[in-house]
Amino acid sequence: STGRVVVVGGGFGGAACARALKRARADLQVILIDPNVVFTACPFSNEVIAGLRNIEAQQFSHDKLAAEGLTIVDQAVTTIEPQQRSVLTADGVALPYDRLVLSPGIDFNFEALPGYDEIASEKMPHAWKAGAQTLLLRRQLEAMDDGGTVAMAIPANPSRCPPAPYERASLIAHYLKTNKPRSKVLILDAKDNFPQQRLFEKAWKELYGDMIERIGLSQGGRVTSVDGSTKTIVTEFGNYTPDVANVIPPQRAGHIAAVAGAVDATGWCPIDPVTFESKLVKNVHIIGDACLGGGIPKSASAASAQGKACAAAIVALLGGRAPETPRLTGVCYNIVAPGYGFSLAGNYQPKGDIFAEVEGGAISPVDAPRELRAREAAEAEHWFQTITADTFG
Ligand code: FAD
Repeated sequence: STGRVVVVGGGFGGAACARALKRARADLQVILIDPNVVFTACPFSNEVIAGLRNIEAQQFSHDKLAAEGLTIVDQAVTTIEPQQRSVLTADGVALPYDRLVLSPGIDFNFEALPGYDEIASEKMPHAWKAGAQTLLLRRQLEAMDDGGTVAMAIPANPSRCPPAPYERASLIAHYLKTNKPRSKVLILDAKDNFPQQRLFEKAWKELYGDMIERIGLSQGGRVTSVDGSTKTIVTEFGNYTPDVANVIPPQRAGHIAAVAGAVDATGWCPIDPVTFESKLVKNVHIIGDACLGGGIPKSASAASAQGKACAAAIVALLGGRAPETPRLTGVCYNIVAPGYGFSLAGNYQPKGDIFAEVEGGAISPVDAPRELRAREAAEAEHWFQTITADTFG
């Protein structure tokens, strides 16, 4: 046969990988499976929550990938049979593969946060998968009276996009300052430190005064349980009943990775970082948020880079050649107000079983003129246009 690769998950990692596979080898049969006909992107979804952007700007179909010769299947994968090398979709169809790529993103570890589940998320949205949850949090903010409190519960790492909760706190503060200036943002955090902390804290002081209050791990900020019916958030030191509660629960690899047998005790998927092949299941590769990446943050930028590197490795393996050692680049922008952004760029290479950061990274200076912040905000928008065009056509 000419080779057949099935890719599960049509988000940033999966779509980038599927597209790169087809581009590298036009004769390869590439099947991309995702139940969502429309993919809603998380990057810039914090702007939607703050009322600065429409959700439609976040939405992408796989139509252009289909036009390029990829086979798109709008189904959820429910079963994986590594022995038979086949996946089963919800409608009962079996699809065989030579190599399987999983990029299912995250699922929530509800057991790790007593009281939180699907039902509680309708009262206390996570908005950590973009779409209906994003719009729900937006509506709750709109409905809140001036003088109210918005609480955010932030989990420990590893989690999807570690700086994004703080970007969200900033943009919620922007909305409140503009529309409901007597209101507050209370951050209850399971961590003491977070990425680009000095940049965020400087911006908060400068833009929002004392509107944002953060209680870190050492001050008892870790949320230990919630009650959706009363909208209560419980920490070691107290109970909070905010007007709006954005609860971001602890996370793990998307469920289908566990079905494949590719998840270890950490809740994530150990891989060989040169090929992204699972350490636990042969011929199954895991990319994006679901894999144990080590030093590489769980971001769209990383998922896309991993998708392309994984495609190159699979093409080599199918051709009987040794895959090259990848060097991945990731960049992460944070917007704290319209026209005010900063960035963090890193390079990563395999080291043992994970990725380690190597030289060449860059972080925005803490003391910089506002022109640089404005330029980085514009660059962020450009980054989003580029990565989404690169991924979805
Ligand atoms: P996803 O992009 O989530 O794609 C997973 C896909 O798999 C989904 O479409 C899902 O439907 C599908 N799927 C799951 N299970 C199955 C199944 N059983 N069968 C078939 N399909 C399935 N990253 C950045 O780089 N920059 C940013 O500025 C940024 N901002 C963010 C802001 C927020 C608020 C959040 C929450 C995240 C942000 N991220 C950002 C992170 C980024 O969204 C993720 O890291 C990225 O989407 C990971 O890509 P992925 O392919 O692993 O998963």
